[in-house]
This record gives sequence, C-alpha cells and structure tokens, in this order.
Amino acid sequence: SLSHVAVVARGLGIPAVMGLEDLPVQALAGRVAAVDGYSGRVVVDPTSSVRAEIEQLARDELALNEKLEALRDLPARTRDEKDVELLVNIGLTSDVERARSVGASGIGLWRTELEFMLAESFPSESDQRLRYREVLEALAPYPVTMRTLDIGGDKRLAYFPVEEENPFLGWRGIRVSLSQPQILIPQVRAMLAANQGLGNLRILLPMVSTVGEAAEARRLVTRAWRQLHEEGYVEPLPPVGIMLEVPAAASQIERLSEHADFFSIGSNDLTQFLVAADRGNPRVAALCDPLHPGVLRVIRDVIERGRAAGRAVGVCGEMAGDPGAALLLIGMGVDQLSMSPARVPIVKAVVRAASADDARELVAKALDVDGADSVRALLESEVIELGLQQLVFPATRDIIAGAANACAISD
Ligand code: PEP
Ligand code: MG
Repeated sequence: SLSHVAVVARGLGIPAVMGLEDLPVQALAGRVAAVDGYSGRVVVDPTSSVRAEIEQLARDELALNEKLEALRDLPARTRDEKDVELLVNIGLTSDVERARSVGASGIGLWRTELEFMLAESFPSESDQRLRYREVLEALAPYPVTMRTLDIGGDKRLAYFPVEEENPFLGWRGIRVSLSQPQILIPQVRAMLAANQGLGNLRILLPMVSTVGEAAEARRLVTRAWRQLHEEGYVEPLPPVGIMLEVPAAASQIERLSEHADFFSIGSNDLTQFLVAADRGNPRVAALCDPLHPGVLRVIRDVIERGRAAGRAVGVCGEMAGDPGAALLLIGMGVDQLSMSPARVPIVKAVVRAASADDARELVAKALDVDGADSVRALLESEVIELGLQQLVFPATRDIIAGAANACAISD
C-alpha cells in the first residue's frame, strides 16, 4: 500500500496490514494475532504450526539483517563501477538516529508535514528552526533534503481544516504554500537559519504542477533567503529541487530545470495519477502499482530527459526501497534512491551485486511486457540470479492461506 499510514509504518519498521474491514477489534483483546506484512494477512489465534512458521520467518529476517550489516560502510557501487546515492526518508526528528545508522549518505526526503500533524497549532518559526537544526547538525556533512509542507490528500492538520470531495486532486503541497506565504516563508526561513554554519540543507518542493508554480516558489525561497541575509545569514542559497509527482509537470522537465537544481520523482503520487487509482483505497491498491509498464516508461523518460538537461534525478517514493524496482531504476540511470531506513541495507546489497549495463537490458524487457505482474516475476528472477534470493519476499501466502482463522487481504 502507498497510503501515508503504510509509508509511516514502513519508516518505523513496524509490520502492518492495511485495508482490513469489519475487524472485530473488541473480540481481539488478549488474544494472539500474527501480523504478516508480506502477504497482508492477520491470523488470530494461530495454530502452533502457523505460529512456528511465522516465528521462523522473523528469525530469518533478523539473520539477514545481521548479514547485511557488513555492507554498512561499503559504497553503493555496481560491479561496473556506477555509483548510486542511497538516501533515507524520514518523518520525525526522532528518526534521525536510524537515518544515521544504516549506511546511507544523507536524507533524501524529510516529510516535514508529520511534525506539523503532531502539533496542536502551526509551529512557530523558532520551534521549526530548533528541530531542523537538530537534524542538519546530526547529519552534517551529509545532505538533508527538507520538503516544504506537503499537506492535503490524506495528510490533514486538525488546526487547518480543509473539506474537499477529491482531496488527492485538491489543495495540496505547493498549492497550499503558494497561496499561504505566511506558512511557507517562516518554514523556509527556519530551514535556512538552521543551515547556518553547516551548509548541508537542500530544499524540495512537493506537488508542483506548472512551471509558474516552480518559478513562484523559488522566488519566495529567494525572498526568505534575502531577508535572512540582511539579518546576518552568510550561507549561500541552498540547492532547491522539484518533486515530479504530477504527470503534466514531469513531461515539462526541460522547462522546469530552469527553476530546479535537482529533481526527485515522487513515484507514489505519480503512480496514482498515471493509473487513476487512489493510493489509499484498498479496493484499487493492486492497480496503484509503479511496476505497471506504462508507469515505468514515464519514469524512464523523466530520468533520461532530466539528466540530459543536466540535473540529477532521484526517486523518493516507496519503489526506491524495493530491491527489484531499484534494479530497474539503476538501469534507467537514476542518480539517487531515497527510502525508509530499513530498506537501505537490502538495496545496497542489490546495487553492489548488479551491473548497470545488465540493468539496462532488464529495463528494455520490463517495458515490453503486458503488466506489473510480469514485471514483478522478471525482477524476482533477476534478483535471484544475482544470488540474492533471500531478498525476495518470503512466500508466506501458502502457510497462512491454509489457516482457517486468517482475516485476509490487502496491501
Ligand atoms: C511520493 O508521492 O512518492 C512521495 C515521496 O511523497 P508522499 O509519499 O509523501 O506523498
Ligand atoms: Mg507525494
């Protein structure tokens, strides 16, 4: 699932199953439930054999993580010496310890709106500055990419209610920030002030749909920077990047590159818009799949055209943390992959086993099949061929499907 609750759970390393309806929550108190995030099932009162299987899976996963730990300080470089920058996605200031410990080279996406969602009113500029400083300082000299407030869709602020019939297509991300500069300017000022003496800040603009929005957002960032300059701030203007999540904007990447120092593909939103399937709706979750060859084709074009325009292009949606999808993105020439911290060791193992040349051939094959299922099968066999069969999700479906008390479905 690409819903924000799923994204946050993944970030925290908590197994989660989404889309369970009619779950008799009251009847569950005090009973044992096995949550299998791989197959998307919950088994209440598992039999001893189901329980033993699931416990074995959990042990296998721990053992795998210990093995991958050895890669921590090694570079993310393919066999044919192509470097891929592996970065992490964080939500809360408190995620910073995990971000530092997994062997990534910085933060590729800080969803700053999560801090706003926990607060009871808009955090002041100085509150924001303190939090941002904590993370920039902890990561320095590695880059920290801070996204400006991305509310709307399924991310709401209780103290800033917005009622809409189609929130995912509504007032979101940069659209809100541009019409409410009293929210954007203090946030950007807080980011810039926190960067003083460190210089590892990068600013990222979410949900840009037009060149005009990108130009206007950049103008406001520059205005905040000038104000601070007059107040004694000495750092140069940090790199400002644009998220490519809206198909029409992605196809204008050359024009956008005049206003962007780098690009980051938000594959979660980009996918939901390309396949016209709500990322948070369990009924259409199977459709909202970035491995749809039509989606992959757009992503390939965007990476190629962005790089031809002289800009680094990264991917920060959930697909970046999937070993098979990461292989494809490497074959497309991606510069950065940003993912939840738990996925970094796995993706690093794939990068180090891969050859960028072979991955290019894999892309050609993946673009030429009918659907996401065929792409997935292709990627699984490629990952196995690289000698990384442990990274292919374990086949828990069979074990659990047999259990009469499985609550079934989703993800
Ligand atoms: C995305 O849309 O892919 C993305 C990274 O942003 P979010 O998941 O926060 O919408
Ligand atoms: Mg998004």
